[in-house]
Amino acid sequence: MSLTFDPRSIKLPIGHFIGGEYVAGTAAMTVKAPSDGRPIAEIPLADASVVDRAVETAKAALVSSGWNRQRPRERLRALCAWADLIEKEAEYLARIEAVSSSRLIGEALAGDVMVAAEQIRFFAEFADKECDDLVPTADSQFGFIASEPYGVVGAITAWNVPVALAAWKLAPALAAGNAVVLKPSEMTPFSTLYMAELAVRAGMPAGLINVVVGDGPQTGAAIVAHADVAKVSFTGSTRAGVAIMENAARSGIKPVTLELGGKSPQVVFADADLDLAARCITRTILANAGQGCVAGSRVIVDRPVAAGLAERIVELMKQVTPGPTWDETTTFSPIISEPQLSRIDSIVTAARNMGAEVVCGGARIEREGSFYQPTVLAAVTDSSPAVAEEIFGPVLTIQSFDGEEEATQLARHKTYGLSAGLFTKDLSRAMRMVRMLEAGTVWVNRYGRSRDHILPTGGWKSSGLGKDLGREAYHANRRTKSVLIDL
Ligand code: NAD
Repeated sequence: MSLTFDPRSIKLPIGHFIGGEYVAGTAAMTVKAPSDGRPIAEIPLADASVVDRAVETAKAALVSSGWNRQRPRERLRALCAWADLIEKEAEYLARIEAVSSSRLIGEALAGDVMVAAEQIRFFAEFADKECDDLVPTADSQFGFIASEPYGVVGAITAWNVPVALAAWKLAPALAAGNAVVLKPSEMTPFSTLYMAELAVRAGMPAGLINVVVGDGPQTGAAIVAHADVAKVSFTGSTRAGVAIMENAARSGIKPVTLELGGKSPQVVFADADLDLAARCITRTILANAGQGCVAGSRVIVDRPVAAGLAERIVELMKQVTPGPTWDETTTFSPIISEPQLSRIDSIVTAARNMGAEVVCGGARIEREGSFYQPTVLAAVTDSSPAVAEEIFGPVLTIQSFDGEEEATQLARHKTYGLSAGLFTKDLSRAMRMVRMLEAGTVWVNRYGRSRDHILPTGGWKSSGLGKDLGREAYHANRRTKSVLIDL
């Protein structure tokens, strides 16, 4: 069956979703489809009073539902019912995502929605399996470390993979016994609203998931500053992460999980399978048109094979088919907005002015919508803006090295440490390099996340603090209490 659909057939959910129902707000911003630039919705921007209403609703829902007081297995059951309904409604949810974001319909369906359901079940399983710790004490005492949910968790997400990010925030927080007030990106709020609606339709207590639609400085800041939001989980740019950390420090010293930007290296040694390396490198920088936090945008290659690798990459880059996200034959996504496209182009232009050689691409694609050519830049140094800055577009830089030491030096970014790729057939070298690379994730002879949700994801340095996925994400949504009883 064809996945292609008519975008006008999709009714986007509009408003906030609070206490199990849509709450209208004054239309304040126009959202456009990146595929063709057509205005698709007018959305409200929540002010502090709307955020307050969402937080109060979340607090009340925790009490009335007994979400954290009932048997943990009940949370598991409710979350799995939500995952089941997401799977049942997968095609419609994926269509909402494709209409309003840069996600291609095929990727949104198989890669985002179905995996989100899987991750909700993954975290649901923690609810009745993670135990508190008994501690050794004298016989006359009894000591243990209890863990408890925070209460209301505030979550804020980026626009690049909205369904996936909503699942990463909601699933561990809910499984751990919290309620959530979530603000998706103002550019792509619709799929998150629909996920919240599906939770209630699946039987989860209304008010446990509240979605407020709005911008960063007003709505996001109000969530972070709210006195009853006890923990904040954020995915977005490092710049916003800094603002959130400051705000959280001033608003009651609350813990923050920050999943931020990246500028990830892909280190290719001469002994690597170059066809494999070229495929992995090209796939990651072309996926979602490079609008991925872990996009491996800096190729660092052994000098003797640099030309051969570049040739292979350029050849693969020629094979993309740009087009609307709702057409299943499209293989290359639009850029989310015109301002983001201009930013990509200005960084490429600045790099070129500083001596970068444009091996391919380097300009927008002249067609309807916001599309940028797959681009490879060579003859760059660490001071080039194309190497120093996260571009968040389909732009690769290529630098060559002689020896492991120089490879390590080039791979080390002065700001970011999100992920890294490594291509070599030499196991000893791979293990040495894994230790040397400054990154929260290292992939060897592959690039990109698998469906092993037990592997946490998160960055070093200015790429973040704390982890999404894995056991760590569940535990980050609970706080511990040390208890000692004299018997
Ligand atoms: P952004 O920082 O502009 O916005 C992200 C979210 O934060 C949005 O919802 C926005 O409204 C909100 N926001 C902005 N300023 C805020 C503030 N002062 N207080 C509270 N909220 C605020 O990022 P973006 O352009 O939406 O997304 C792209 C960025 O996200 C890239 O840097 C990318 O690397 C990063 N990202 C990281 C990961 C990860 O797992 N590390 C995943 C996806 C995206």
